[in-house]
Amino acid sequence: MPSAPLPLGSVAQPAGPPARGTEACLSCGSTDLVRIRMGVAGGRNVVFVSCPRCEHTAWFDEDGDGTPLSSEDVTGIDPAGGRQAPR
Ligand SMILES: [Zn+2]
Repeated sequence: MPSAPLPLGSVAQPAGPPARGTEACLSCGSTDLVRIRMGVAGGRNVVFVSCPRCEHTAWFDEDGDGTPLSSEDVTGIDPAGGRQAPR
């Protein structure tokens, strides 16, 4: 069941199972992670993951395939200018 997009810039605690890629720390494998959902440009929801153990941080698309996002993906700012957020 797809979740409704969050308002831009809003922050919410994830509900239900963790998004793909956020189950465990990519660096140390710890599953005791801080997960924060955010709405970003383009109407997408992303999950910010922070590992208290090794301080590794990463962003993931809530509906993505588990591939970490770049900061450009999260901010909606593409240095190449080839992508724009849909209205
Ligand atoms: Zn870690």
